[in-house]
Amino acid sequence: MDVQKEIEALREEIREHNRHYYEEDAPVISDFEYDALMRRLIELEAAHPEYSSPDSPTQRVGGTARSTFAPVTHEVPLESLADVFSRDELGAFGDRMAALLPEGRDYCVEPKIDGLSMSLEYENGVFVRGATRGDGITGEDVTENLRTVRSLPKKLSGAPPKLIVRGEVYMSRTVFSQLNAKREIAGESLLANPRNAAAGSMRQIDPQVAAARKLDIIVFNIQRAEGARFSTHAETLDALRGYGFNTVPYTLCGGIDACCEQIERIGEDRESFPYDIDGAVIKINALAQRKKLGSTSKAPRWAVAYKYPPEKKESVVEAITVQVGRTGVLTPKAVIAPVKLAGTTVTNATLHNQDFIDKLDLRVGDTVIVRKAGEIIPEVLEVVKSKRPKSTVPFSMPEFCPECASPIVRDADGVALRCTGAECPAQRLRNIVHFASREGMDIEGLGISVAESLIRAGLLASPAGIYYLEPQSVARLDRMGEKSAENLMKAIEKSKGAGLARLLCAFGIRQVGQKAAKVLSANFGTLDALMAAESQALTAVPDIGEITANFITEWFSNPQSQHQIRLLREAGVSFESREEKRDNRFLGKTFVLTGALENFTRDEAAEIIESYGGKASGSVSRKTAYVLAGENAGSKLNKARELGVEILNESQFMELIK
Ligand SMILES: [Zn+2]
Repeated sequence: MDVQKEIEALREEIREHNRHYYEEDAPVISDFEYDALMRRLIELEAAHPEYSSPDSPTQRVGGTARSTFAPVTHEVPLESLADVFSRDELGAFGDRMAALLPEGRDYCVEPKIDGLSMSLEYENGVFVRGATRGDGITGEDVTENLRTVRSLPKKLSGAPPKLIVRGEVYMSRTVFSQLNAKREIAGESLLANPRNAAAGSMRQIDPQVAAARKLDIIVFNIQRAEGARFSTHAETLDALRGYGFNTVPYTLCGGIDACCEQIERIGEDRESFPYDIDGAVIKINALAQRKKLGSTSKAPRWAVAYKYPPEKKESVVEAITVQVGRTGVLTPKAVIAPVKLAGTTVTNATLHNQDFIDKLDLRVGDTVIVRKAGEIIPEVLEVVKSKRPKSTVPFSMPEFCPECASPIVRDADGVALRCTGAECPAQRLRNIVHFASREGMDIEGLGISVAESLIRAGLLASPAGIYYLEPQSVARLDRMGEKSAENLMKAIEKSKGAGLARLLCAFGIRQVGQKAAKVLSANFGTLDALMAAESQALTAVPDIGEITANFITEWFSNPQSQHQIRLLREAGVSFESREEKRDNRFLGKTFVLTGALENFTRDEAAEIIESYGGKASGSVSRKTAYVLAGENAGSKLNKARELGVEILNESQFMELIK
């Protein structure tokens, strides 16, 4: 199809899906399919800037062009609450309330969601504006990003003509762990916790990115409701639910003791909420009483936030196991005797790495203190040395991968240990996706979800297996169909000619990215020449250091890699460089120039040597390959004779560079 026509068709299609997604809350294609359309459009527009247009969906979302976040002054300030950390402090709050409200009082107790506070404005029931809390007085306009939050109602039913509410945007724990799994496969850094992930998503300039993060929102307060009359906070929450919001669950309590019980219950049930909570909020329920109490300069007088202390428990380390992540990183984990922590039964704790274990001197059999604060996985705080049984031994990480028995290497730049197996089952998905990626063999249509389906269906177990897929079985995959299967098979066939540089990058050898792969490809010309190269020949290549050279030789010597290469060769994948082959006749050879040459200056001679991959050096050593001696050569010539280094005269050199 004509490129311009394809671009226009894609734009129209994406606009249509945007309408379904953002305005009707009823997407008709999966996120994966949507992303594929968008990716294709971005790609085409990048390749054909002449067809770019400011009204392309890649530039605009929801009909509004946007570049930065405009400041918003909150009509009603978004106050923050005073924190209390103990039952005593909560008791003191109760005493204050009793003194200020002698007529009697009810409390409303709610879980405190660990998310991002937002103010949402509705006019005649339609969502018109949303802003971050900011400093409570001024926030940022994130309306477009908020529109992508699926649980945010764009239209309310029965709401007052002007309504401002306050809610908390959060990322559910399920979405968070899926997002991190994807990032791990893509080799991106992991997000620390759902709160940070949500914050990062809300600050995305591109609402498409925010949309992909699948955020949610829970509303917990009416800031302003023109024309509506409520007498209690509980009534407002019920009304909000009636308008169409997800609202925070609440419990009414007659006194502080009942509040304490409810707080404890929330604490125990923490894990049953889809969102992280970092405390409980205790508010006076009657709105008239709230008005009477007012606020100090820092916080309202009528509410406090109770913060749960990070819970610590003692347990015993029953074993230390080592897990292999999707990028091949080995992580030790302590298997501990079950303890209840922050509402869940915990049976293991992360140990991060060998250094962490060494610092604690942690051993199997030890009694340890474990803690769970905001983190998903609990951690070991300390070892109770006095309880250490006799005959324990220090732990050390395995030298071979527990999943595939390949040798383990230490990352060049840190403490991480990594499996080198090209066929490691733990890294299967990531290795295949990387192999097919744009920097690798560039197989269009073989992304994370297709690779996942192929693996799940038992059709694919390693990168080279891609070239042995059968079109009929691929077509039978979910969501695939004959047409896409055909396209995928075509893309796979085409990738056979991708060339050595792409192939090297696709292998995912440590430190060998696009740039190094290109240099290696240009210098060696074929995969076989590279495989036969000794470490010295590798380090002689510009940009390839000793560490990288070691990773390369280690990778090629692994039987799993050799098996992959055999399969690729049999499938007819090209092992040839597509770059112009460099003439490297002097690769790894060092020349020393001395005396005056007739046909070149010394600099010119050095340049010629370097252009053939060699090096020119100033002093003679055992490593010197040749001394090029011109007229009046001096001490260097004598040194060369002493060391038995081959000596060339100018005509012999001319012969070599012919
Ligand atoms: Zn492995």
